[in-house]
Amino acid sequence: MEIIPIIEKDELARHLGGDEFGNISHSTRLKIEKMETIFEKLVEPSLYHQNTGIDSVEKGTVHLEEGPEFKSPKLSRMLKDCDDIICYIATLGDDIDGEIKRLMDNKHMAEAYILDAMASVAADNMVATFHRHMKDEYKNQGKQVTLCFSPGYCDWPVTEQKKLFSLIESQDVEVELNDSCLMTPRKSISGVFGIQSDYEHGDKTYNPCWDCNKTDCPARRAPKRERKKT
Ligand code: SF4
Repeated sequence: MEIIPIIEKDELARHLGGDEFGNISHSTRLKIEKMETIFEKLVEPSLYHQNTGIDSVEKGTVHLEEGPEFKSPKLSRMLKDCDDIICYIATLGDDIDGEIKRLMDNKHMAEAYILDAMASVAADNMVATFHRHMKDEYKNQGKQVTLCFSPGYCDWPVTEQKKLFSLIESQDVEVELNDSCLMTPRKSISGVFGIQSDYEHGDKTYNPCWDCNKTDCPARRAPKRERKKT
């Protein structure tokens, strides 16, 4: 699937340590404009995805029809009422990595830092656009999709990345895993989300952050749910 990533400016400002783009200094803005031109020339976005049926979910494990099992209590709780999952791998290609390295080798640290931040924002944007697109598509079928979950986040071990990669059948995937299960190109994101029937009664998908006590978690996606007083 082809999705052209957008670099959302306020998000970029936050990645660069600021609050919003309007408050960024003039000199940094000039550098951003220069790096944007380079980014657009080098980016080669691609996204691969695959549907897989869920066989059962029990005791912190998601058993898939295709064979592998995902072991994560929080992912399991989120997928408990789902029939299928979508696995995805999104990448910006390896030319961006090469340019960041070249800038660092030549001691252009500010430019390297900006390009790195731009690529992170763009990769997140690609996945968010894909997720939104699938959400709309399934809504038309009376279904809903859960939040995205990636190996290495929350309680899902990064080593499960190998299982996720084994589920994507395309021979064209231009992303590799090293021994530590990190991806090359570096600006790549993999993950899954569930597909749940029964949209007509409103959004019933579960967010594990509601019941989690780690209020300082950087990956937190919702406030903690208030317990009703009895
Ligand atoms: S707050 Fe963090 S650790 Fe807790 S469920 Fe959310 S992502 Fe996971």
